[in-house]
Amino acid sequence: MKTLSFLRRSFEHGVHPAHHKQQTEDLPIQRVPFGKDYIMPLGQHIGVPARPVVDVGERVQRGQLIAEPGGFVSTALHSPVTGTIRDIGDFRGVDGRFAPAIAIQADAFATQQADAGPALDWQSLSLEDFIEAVQMAGIVGMGGAAFPAHVKLSVPDGVRIRHLLINGAECEPYLTTDHRLMLERPQALLEGAEIMRQKLGAEETVIGVEMNKPDAIEVIKRHIRPDQPVRVVPLKVKYPQGAEKMMIKSVFGKEVPAGQLPRDVEVNVNNVGTIVAVADYFLRGMPLIERVVTVAGPGVTYPANLIVPLGTPVRDVVKFCGGLRPGTREIIMGGPMMGRPIASLDVPVLKGCSGVLVFTEQQTARRKEYPCISCGRCLEACPYFLNPSRLARLSKSRMFDEMKAYHVFDCVECGSCTFACPSNIPIVQLIRTAKDDLSHRKESDT
Ligand code: SF4
Ligand code: SF4
Repeated sequence: MKTLSFLRRSFEHGVHPAHHKQQTEDLPIQRVPFGKDYIMPLGQHIGVPARPVVDVGERVQRGQLIAEPGGFVSTALHSPVTGTIRDIGDFRGVDGRFAPAIAIQADAFATQQADAGPALDWQSLSLEDFIEAVQMAGIVGMGGAAFPAHVKLSVPDGVRIRHLLINGAECEPYLTTDHRLMLERPQALLEGAEIMRQKLGAEETVIGVEMNKPDAIEVIKRHIRPDQPVRVVPLKVKYPQGAEKMMIKSVFGKEVPAGQLPRDVEVNVNNVGTIVAVADYFLRGMPLIERVVTVAGPGVTYPANLIVPLGTPVRDVVKFCGGLRPGTREIIMGGPMMGRPIASLDVPVLKGCSGVLVFTEQQTARRKEYPCISCGRCLEACPYFLNPSRLARLSKSRMFDEMKAYHVFDCVECGSCTFACPSNIPIVQLIRTAKDDLSHRKESDT
């Protein structure tokens, strides 16, 4: 029956947190005013940090290259403002640890008008040159993971990509950046999709959008040209519908086996914001120097969807939104399920920052933790069919090595298990602790 087909567009397990999207889903994207100080961490993505190519005291233009990729799994950085390099050194990052960054003081008298460069002749670029251009544009996965986009484009010999899958699920509560981009920049989304599809040699583009964004589905469909091989696929509203492997299962019915990648089932997945960034670079000459951020949550005075130059302190963003309400307790960078609390209002907005969410005591009051009652709800919630209660138990006993046998590295830290647990056990935090410990030990062994 055709009308019920979308109900099958899903994956097994998962959870249904409240959306809380009504705060910002109808708010058009606006630009935050330029401030004075910007901090650009050299490691804004998974992989090797970028290497500075500027000196302290040097004047830079908005969009100018300030750091080159430090290796293959690394991307370039560009100045978000016209100004002067104030410092190159260690600055406090999102997690409170100090890490290398470039500090830029914006020129108070500059218009901060970025000169759009000429469109690049992407059609005549070889795939190798195209991949390098994406890397030099500084483009990463904009959904939160911040994985360098060009790495996903490098497909080994003999592997074919048939489908470009664009992730418009935006399943995290509160966040509406992708929703607004789909509504306000459908043309750029379809242009970027066509560039990526042609360079990958894929047969079609599929845009997966959760059913709670019918206006976005309608707007994109209206903008598809007859010669564009694009389908929009409405998906059931369920968390984490936007996880790559879940979306592939929902759209194509294919499983990506543990340890394998989407390309192993002939799919390349990219977020809506990533695809728009590709269009902005290849058609308008703009590297990644700003992004859309949802500012929401009960602790913010005026929620908003904002274009924020990278490196802007969270303090400036919150101030533009009317400041914090009394009783504010926690600010999360990203969504409430996968985001992380920030250590200070001075930390900068990064490439992977889809949201700045402000919570009060009411939402963050630590709930009393009870012993595991072996109810199995975490197992039913885990979309990766892991055993979260066992992993949490092992982590509490610091038996991290034993957790490898329970596939701890297959955990994507979606938080579904924690959400489902009636005993309030911080399962995902315990898993994170173990993964961090195992990863650090591996790094120091090599
Ligand atoms: S174990 Fe990991 S992947 Fe499974 S639900 Fe928990 S956080 Fe998500
Ligand atoms: S959901 Fe919580 S209480 Fe239930 S089995 Fe999992 S860890 Fe134990």
